[in-house]
Amino acid sequence: MPVTDPYAVLGVSRDASADDIKSAYRRLARKFHPDVNPDDPTAEEKFKEVGEAYSILSDPERRQRFDQYGVTDDSGMGGGGGYGPGPGAADFGDLFEAFFGGMGGMGGGQANFSRDGDDLRADVSITLRDVLTGCEKPIKVKRTTPCTHCGGTGGEPGSEIKTCDTCNGQGAVRRIANTFLGSVTTTTTCPTCRGTGKKIEKPCSKCQGKKVTVETADLTVNIPAGVQHGTTLRVSGQGGAGIDGGQPGDLYVVVAVARDARFERDDIHLYAPLDITFAQAAMGDQIEAESLDGTVKISIPRGSQPQAEVRIKGRGLPRLRGGARGDLIYVLRVKVPKDLSQERAELLRKFAELGNERIPEGDGQGGGFLGGLFGKKKK
Ligand SMILES: [Zn+2]
Ligand SMILES: [Zn+2]
Repeated sequence: MPVTDPYAVLGVSRDASADDIKSAYRRLARKFHPDVNPDDPTAEEKFKEVGEAYSILSDPERRQRFDQYGVTDDSGMGGGGGYGPGPGAADFGDLFEAFFGGMGGMGGGQANFSRDGDDLRADVSITLRDVLTGCEKPIKVKRTTPCTHCGGTGGEPGSEIKTCDTCNGQGAVRRIANTFLGSVTTTTTCPTCRGTGKKIEKPCSKCQGKKVTVETADLTVNIPAGVQHGTTLRVSGQGGAGIDGGQPGDLYVVVAVARDARFERDDIHLYAPLDITFAQAAMGDQIEAESLDGTVKISIPRGSQPQAEVRIKGRGLPRLRGGARGDLIYVLRVKVPKDLSQERAELLRKFAELGNERIPEGDGQGGGFLGGLFGKKKK
């Protein structure tokens, strides 16, 4: 619904100053804001009316036109198009200010259209040994950084930065669409200045007005002991640069733990195969074996069976949040000799005999079973 007398709506006199108009508008906008009057359906109507009146009186051209011709709308002017802000374009920022300007630290009256930087991802590969000790890894990150030439303003140093004509520096434009539900007002970011409210006369020669440039940063990331394969570490503030005062993004480092040739990981425990002889398995032994950090003494119990596990407490991996290390578990692999000398074969037969076991027909020599049986002459 068109406003017929914006002065009456705002309750100001014809010769009211711009400041008077602004403060009257703020007072009324607060009073009639739909959020403040959820139960009063007329409040929203009043709120819109106040906004419309202010958009007329805050625009010197429109105010003058009203004073002169008594019209409040472009449509009455015929061919009067072409001037910057459409109806109501001016009031977004002021509305913002009306509600937030007095409370927060914004004060300046300009809505904040800063843009935060992008979050980025980097991948890093580490070894099991790194998981044990923690490590520092150098990584390269391609990211945006504030342009050093223009200091992030986007304008060539020394050139002027003006107020955007499209949105009058408000950073947003309001559109009124007529639908079957009535007119619907939407506020969108100004397409000309993309919300900054500023117009750069001469774009920065280095960043072409983008305010940021792309760099490849050499960073060092601290990887704590105990990380898992796939653990994601957040490095705060090391992502893309924020624009117009926005916060920088974060860097997410995804850790891959390379497979180890000797040790298999199960959470904080490590498994490793350990080859022993039949004699060691049968009689027991004290040996040394490599762990992830130095050698360990291992007691092979007498009568160990294949796949038996020997557990070394506290020689596995740490947890990410500290505490005792896991265990290192050796899985015994009993090696069976493949080629026996005659003497050893003789002893094994004797061994079987003494144990009341069946005496093998093979002799453990030459090309397999048949070869053993028929291919060689016994002495
Ligand atoms: Zn620049
Ligand atoms: Zn603009």
